[in-house]
Amino acid sequence: MSAQLLDGKVLATKIKEKLKMQVISLKKVRSSVPRVVNIAIGDHHATCAYANAQIKAAQDIGIDYKLDILPQDISQEKLIDYVQKLNHDPSVNGIMVHKPVPEHIDYHIVANYIDGMKDLEGVNVVNIGKMLLGKTNIIPCTPAAVMALIESTGIELRGKEVVIVGHSEIVGKPLSLLLLAKMATVTVCHVATSEAGKLVEHVSRADVLIVAVGKPGLIKGEWIKKGAIVIDVGINQVGSKMVGDVEALSAQAKASYLTPVPGGVGPVTVVMLMKNAIEAFRLQSDEKS
Ligand code: NAP
Repeated sequence: MSAQLLDGKVLATKIKEKLKMQVISLKKVRSSVPRVVNIAIGDHHATCAYANAQIKAAQDIGIDYKLDILPQDISQEKLIDYVQKLNHDPSVNGIMVHKPVPEHIDYHIVANYIDGMKDLEGVNVVNIGKMLLGKTNIIPCTPAAVMALIESTGIELRGKEVVIVGHSEIVGKPLSLLLLAKMATVTVCHVATSEAGKLVEHVSRADVLIVAVGKPGLIKGEWIKKGAIVIDVGINQVGSKMVGDVEALSAQAKASYLTPVPGGVGPVTVVMLMKNAIEAFRLQSDEKS
């Protein structure tokens, strides 16, 4: 058995086509297109690849995207003022603050100043709360990408054993809510699961396994249940190669589907940001009408 690769680039292209059509029809009805601003602070080097991918996706879809680079030493107060200025600008539909931010800035405080209806990444507590209640379409982009990749396999999640490794606030935790909403039986593993020697036990009963840790090769192929769907969110630079958290070669022998790294979750994450931009635009247009 050899796993089918879940090609994120192919899925991203399909979603982009749909989003492009949506932007065309919004333009016809509302005479404008979604406009978003990505605020990056300081040395723009680390943000470059992700921001460039966003710029390209926005261009392909027809979204007006602006990257604002603010100085490294900008104070938190000034940054919040900047966010609020964008909140009050009716021509701006979506705002995000690119991570990482410098140490003197508390990302969570700043994120909570982003208007809930312009919160491009779904990081404002209002949107996180709404997600818990299943009352928002603005979903954090990586969890949304993972859900789209799982959906593309055609699997019915109801009653399936889904195991998430990693419980970060940007991936594991929001993902657990989205999966629960689909009536999957969700187990979330973290560092203490490994410390307790229970990681293999949990991983090996997963019908769907999602790994978001940031440790190359943490998950061995032998641990994986035969026929499982494996979504590898991890991105690790090992020498000149980029690898995931799952040992790709041995996992291929056990899984039915496996996301490659690179080219799996990453490209879909970028288009999910654009999906949120369209949703934010709609929310604001509905409010006006
Ligand atoms: P993070 O905030 O550092 O979280 C890592 C998680 O892994 C934590 O919950 C941590 O648990 C857990 N963990 C650490 N060691 C473990 C172990 N030995 N066994 C089990 N769990 C362990 O990282 P993140 O931001 O979620 O990102 C995770 C990975 O996904 C990174 O490689 C990142 O680059 C990648 N990523 C990819 C995308 C994409 O679009 N493709 C997007 C976001 C992130 P504790 O908190 O208990 O220590």
